[in-house]
Amino acid sequence: MPHPLAERLNKLPPYLFAEIDKMKQAALDRGEDVINLGVGDPDLPTPDPIIDRLAEAARDPANHQYPSYTGMMGFREAAAAWFERRFGASLDPATEVLTLIGSKEGIFHFPLAFIDPGDTVLVPDPAYPVYHAGAVFAEGNPIPVPLLAENDFFPDLDAIDPNVAKAAKILWVNYPNNPTASCATLEFLEKVVDFAQKHQIIVAHDMAYSEIAYDGYRPPSLLQVPGGKEVSIEFHSLSKTYNMTGWRIAFAVGNRDLIAGLGAVKTNADSGQFQPIQIAGITALEYDHSIVDDLIAKYKERRDVLVDGLNALGWNVPKPKASFYVWIPCPDGRKSTDLTAALLQHAAIVTTPGVGFGQHGEGYIRMTLCTDKSRLEEAVARIEKLGDEIRSGPQEQAS
Ligand SMILES: *Cc1c(COP(=O)(O)O)cnc(C)c1O
Repeated sequence: MPHPLAERLNKLPPYLFAEIDKMKQAALDRGEDVINLGVGDPDLPTPDPIIDRLAEAARDPANHQYPSYTGMMGFREAAAAWFERRFGASLDPATEVLTLIGSKEGIFHFPLAFIDPGDTVLVPDPAYPVYHAGAVFAEGNPIPVPLLAENDFFPDLDAIDPNVAKAAKILWVNYPNNPTASCATLEFLEKVVDFAQKHQIIVAHDMAYSEIAYDGYRPPSLLQVPGGKEVSIEFHSLSKTYNMTGWRIAFAVGNRDLIAGLGAVKTNADSGQFQPIQIAGITALEYDHSIVDDLIAKYKERRDVLVDGLNALGWNVPKPKASFYVWIPCPDGRKSTDLTAALLQHAAIVTTPGVGFGQHGEGYIRMTLCTDKSRLEEAVARIEKLGDEIRSGPQEQAS
């Protein structure tokens, strides 16, 4: 018998990276030396003290049973203490912090707690795809909010139709931003809180890259804004900060009703994160900040190699202040999928077309800094060798 998929799966956008994946595999099969600037996953290992703590905790039988649904109190306390050190805002670990199995899990489940069928969810475009998917699975109505270069890739809140704003239940924001690397100012976050109060909208802020920032820049939290905690939930993750993407450990902070709603969904969906992972997470959150500083120094060096290298070739690439993404306007107005295909075919470099993150990502490609400096130098050298062809497209396509 046939097994047709549920409508909600058909509603998700097509997998735009499938073609790139095919081309990447073909290049690997030809034995080419592929440089992968497509993945947003740290290449460096988790620091040893965190691994040691996991190993030790895994040997304790007290940690072998179901953990608590809301997360170990010790982890939530460590998260609250980290948050207060970092942002100067205090949290009640019992009601304003929730352990997550990676922030993707929380981001995906959150709309299930507050969205009824047909409810409007404001989703940035371009964006991390999970905001849209979570809204679709909750049978909500995701409405794209364009992030444009002319607005520093902030949503233009004044341009949102008042009827849409009135109907909206959740506004997603993400700073430092993936894929644009744009960074919120405290002033912008104040506008977001105003907007949320005026229209009675929940603000959900994804801060997965809060610690990956350069040159002394410290990304602000919504909870630093007066009244911010009333309207918001903020997602924080250990994944990118401590090279722990595979571990699946993160936390949400913010308004207690929003935290309780997400917690209620989670008690039905999962049974919490393995305690040794939470215990190792405590070690990470309490660890000397120098492990993060060393990581940032590495990414910064890579960022400068890539951005300065491309700009020396006449590209026009802004230097990100935070995140490990470089958001690159396609030279000479090329289409993003054309440019990523050309880079892969002629230089064996994998990048991501901006349109894969939403229609307003067209005209850009994304490169990541999760590759060794020498490989980034090699990538720039390969692009230089291609010369102008890569900028304007192959000769036969020129009219
Ligand atoms: C990587 C990433 C996350 C998810 O991180 P987890 O590993 O699930 O904590 C969330 N948001 C954005 C924008 C990301 O790039």
